[in-house]
Amino acid sequence: MGMEALLVLFLLGLPQLDSSKVKYCYHNSKCAPPAWPALYHTCNGSQQSPINIKTTEAVRKNDLGEFTFHMYSNRHSLMKIKHTAQSVKISIGDSLELRGGGLKSNYSALQFHLHWGWNSSSGGSEHTIDGVRAGMELHIVHARKGLRLEGALAQPGGIAVLAFFITIENGRTEDPAWKSLTKTIKYLKEEGDYRKLNGTFSLMELIQSVNLTKYYRYNGSLTTPECNEVVVWTVFEESIRLNASLVETFFEDLYINRSAGIRLHGNFRPTQDNRNRVWASRGASRASDPSTTAPPALQTQQLPKTTESGSAGSRPFLLSLLLTLACHILPPN
Ligand SMILES: [Zn+2]
Repeated sequence: MGMEALLVLFLLGLPQLDSSKVKYCYHNSKCAPPAWPALYHTCNGSQQSPINIKTTEAVRKNDLGEFTFHMYSNRHSLMKIKHTAQSVKISIGDSLELRGGGLKSNYSALQFHLHWGWNSSSGGSEHTIDGVRAGMELHIVHARKGLRLEGALAQPGGIAVLAFFITIENGRTEDPAWKSLTKTIKYLKEEGDYRKLNGTFSLMELIQSVNLTKYYRYNGSLTTPECNEVVVWTVFEESIRLNASLVETFFEDLYINRSAGIRLHGNFRPTQDNRNRVWASRGASRASDPSTTAPPALQTQQLPKTTESGSAGSRPFLLSLLLTLACHILPPN
C-alpha cells in the first residue's frame, strides 16, 4: 500500500496503519488542536476551518438557492456506525448525491460524523454563529462526483461538507430517527468498534427538521488533520433540536481508553482566522443585503480562491493609519 493510500485512511479515521505518524487527538496536549500546525504543516494554512460566522458580514447571494438531495431518504444507504477514536462515523453507500445550492459540481455523500463538548450544557460545535457555540455539530462529507477521494482531497472544491448545528434541550419530544442512531452508541466500546445499521432511519430523517434553504457558504478546510484546504462549506442557520436524554450517550458512553477513564469528548477544533468571504443563501434570515451595504465590487465577486483578495487592498491603508498614529504619539524632536 502506498503512502497516499495510507494518508487517505488516516484522514478518514480508519485504523491507523502507519505507526510512525503521530495520531491527532483532542484530549492530550501532544496531539490536540494547538499542536496540529507543528505536526501537520498543512494545518497552518490561511483558509482553515472552522470559523465564526458574522451574520452582519455575510453577503446575500441569490445564486445560493435550494439543494436537491438525491436518495437521502433511502434508509438502506447508511451502512455502519464506527468509533474512530476522534468521533463516531456513519459510512454511506454510493447512491446519495448532492446537487444545486450554488455548488459548481454535483457531489457524492461519503460519510457523516459528529463533534460535541463535555456535557449537554457545554458547547461542542466547531463553527459558531455571531460567537454562539451550539451543543454539537453534524458534518456530512461529500466528494466531487467522478473524483476518487485522493483526488478530491487534492483540489479546491473537491470536498463539500454540510454542517448542521445541534441544540440540546430538556423536555423535547424524542426524534425517532435520532433515537435509532443514538441507541447504537452504547455498543461502541472502544476504537474500531462498529455496528451495522439495519435500515431504521435515513439521512434525510436526521436533517429534515431544519429549513434547508437557510445557510452560509465559504471556502475552507477539513477541521481535522491534514486540514486540506479543499472544502466548500455549507453551514445551515437553523439547528437540529434534540432532547438532552437522547444525546447523553455521547458524553457518557464513549471512551478513548475505558480502563483509564479517558472519555471521547470535547472533539471540536477552535475557530480559525480565515478571511475568505462568507456568503448567505437567498433564504438566510440574517445577512447583509449587497444592494445596500456591500461595496459594488463585492456584488459580482465569485467565491474567492485565495485569502489575498481581502487583505492585500487594506495594507496601504493600515500603513498610513500607523504612520498617522505614530505622528500623533511620538513627541516632536
Ligand atoms: Zn467534522
